[in-house]
Amino acid sequence: MSRILIIEDEESIAELEKDYLELSGFEVEMENQGDTGLNRALTEEFDLLILDLMLPGVDGFEICKRVREEKNTPIIMVSAKKDDIDKIRGLGLGADDYMTKPFSPSELVARVKAHLARYERLIGSGSPQNEIIEIRGIKIDKTARRVYVNGEEKNFTTKEFDLLTFLAQNPNHVFTKEELFSKIWDMESIGDIATVTVHIKKIREKIEYDTAKPQYIETIWGVGYRFKV
Ligand code: CA
Repeated sequence: MSRILIIEDEESIAELEKDYLELSGFEVEMENQGDTGLNRALTEEFDLLILDLMLPGVDGFEICKRVREEKNTPIIMVSAKKDDIDKIRGLGLGADDYMTKPFSPSELVARVKAHLARYERLIGSGSPQNEIIEIRGIKIDKTARRVYVNGEEKNFTTKEFDLLTFLAQNPNHVFTKEELFSKIWDMESIGDIATVTVHIKKIREKIEYDTAKPQYIETIWGVGYRFKV
C-alpha cells in the first residue's frame, strides 16, 4: 500500500484530501506544520508528498527544496494562488506537479495515481521485466527503444513508443483514452485525450497491414483501446 504524507495547515482541506485518498486505498498521514512535516518527509519513507505552499514554520518552497536534496519522492504542490504556481515552476524546485486550490479531490486522486505509477516505473518495482516484447511479428526492444515489424525497423517518436509499449505490455486489457493519457503524458503537458487518438493513428500506420482493419491495437467503441494477442 502506498503511503502519502499531506503537509497542509488548513484542516478542512487536509481532511478532505485524506478521505478521498483513503477511499482509493492509500495510507495517509497528515502534518499541519512546516517544520514537523519536513522532518517526517526526510526521516520516514513516503511514496508521495502533497505539499501546501503557505505553512507555519517552514514554507512549502523550502520543504520541496530540502526534500529534493535528499529524495526523489514525488511531490505535488498545492497553493491557493495561481501566481504562486508560476513562481514554483520558475524556481525549479523539483516538484512533480502543481495544483491550484480549490481543486476537485478526484482530480487530486487521479494525479496521485499517475505520479505513483510513473515513479514505480522509474525505479523499477518488483521483478525485472523482459526487455524484449514479441507479439505476432512485432518486436519491441525496450532497452534500445526500437520497434521491428516483420523484421523491418520502424521509427517511433518517444510518446508513440511509450504508448505502444505500454499497450503491448498489458495485452487484452482495455484502457480508456483518459487512462492512456495520464499514464503516458506528464500531467503538466498540454494536451487532452485527442492526443491519444492521434498517436494511436500514427502507431497503426507503422504496425498495421491495413489500418482500416487493425490486427494489433483494437478500438473498443465507447471505451478505448486494447492490444490484441
Ligand atoms: Ca496554507
